[in-house]
Amino acid sequence: QQEQGACAGCGIRLQSESTDKPGFIPAAAINKEPAICQRCFRIKNYNEAASVAIDHDDFLRLLGGIAATDSLVVHIVDLFDFEGSLISGLQRFVGNNPVLLVVNKVDLLPKGANQNRLRNWVQKQAKSQGLRTVDVVLCSAKKNIGFDRVIEAIEVHRGNRDVYVVGATNVGKSTLINRLIRDYSDLERELTTSRYPGTTLDAVHIPLDDGNAIIDTPGIVYPHRMTEIVPRGVLQALLPEKEIKPLVYQLNAQQTLFVGALARFDFVEGDRQSFTLYISGGLTVHRTKLERADELYADHKGELLSPPNKEQLEEIPAWTRHRLTIRRGTETDIFISGLGWIHANGMNGALVDVYAPKGIRVLMRDALI
Ligand code: GDP
Repeated sequence: QQEQGACAGCGIRLQSESTDKPGFIPAAAINKEPAICQRCFRIKNYNEAASVAIDHDDFLRLLGGIAATDSLVVHIVDLFDFEGSLISGLQRFVGNNPVLLVVNKVDLLPKGANQNRLRNWVQKQAKSQGLRTVDVVLCSAKKNIGFDRVIEAIEVHRGNRDVYVVGATNVGKSTLINRLIRDYSDLERELTTSRYPGTTLDAVHIPLDDGNAIIDTPGIVYPHRMTEIVPRGVLQALLPEKEIKPLVYQLNAQQTLFVGALARFDFVEGDRQSFTLYISGGLTVHRTKLERADELYADHKGELLSPPNKEQLEEIPAWTRHRLTIRRGTETDIFISGLGWIHANGMNGALVDVYAPKGIRVLMRDALI
């Protein structure tokens, strides 16, 4: 039951006097059922129009269109799946347009993580991928952390230009755009969103007051991310909801960890040492002896070793093995795209095998934390 004079979306008292005060509704719309304030109207419109997902080749064709524009490109990546969600080759496609790198989901890392260090790490990784950025901003769209800085950076770098928002799927692009719509100081007046399917850039236009627009492009689907190849039910367990609790394992050589039936980690050779898993709290880890690992998997996959369950497991490609050598004296992460990473302090070096579904990106990188 809607309270008389209250917004059906957020419950705020409706008013038609000032466009820049909360609860504004144009006088002409006040008798509509249900009546919603302008802010809720914008959010609803955006979400109804929110753009679809497309594959990498189609996306590259679309990106080509950005090079011909004069715009600011906001590239959103997921800090939890950094190497998986970074758009490789973005630089070539956006031409001379500046790229602002917005790194989302910073709320997932332990609170104590040093923000400056994280930012330096991101800058270094982006640079090594050939991406030139005008700025790097860390934020959480969901928890509203660092969002003032996102708005500020967009304002500073867009000047009098359109803003193209690009990103892979599940990085939080629509969460972030919803927040932009809510918080953006320029979006005080009438704002509508619309889809233009079949145009060069199949994207959602969100007009700004100054005649420019925020343009939301479709999310790219990267099959090298575990989040893209698992059935829906598994995706929920895979995407961390809240701050990750690092799981520390002291292992001897010839011990194995299973992450459900999604991945397997064998510590093949090296002195006893600790390995720290950064994965979603929705997943469970089983530890066993390497010599018993094959049997355990054969007997218990999809049951004790889950998610995925037996049925879901059939939809996921079989594992391939990645043999990795962690050099002595290096702080290294073994990164498994979409699943998370395993931190090795590498004091003494180690030889490890990682099993992950075929096609999933597995790599070693400088430790994030
Ligand atoms: P899109 O596919 O890029 O548009 O991503 P969505 O906005 O739909 O978000 C994908 C998933 O990530 C959802 O489960 C969101 O709740 C979650 N998400 C989005 N932003 C954040 C964030 O800042 N922190 C965390 N922890 N999760 C987020």
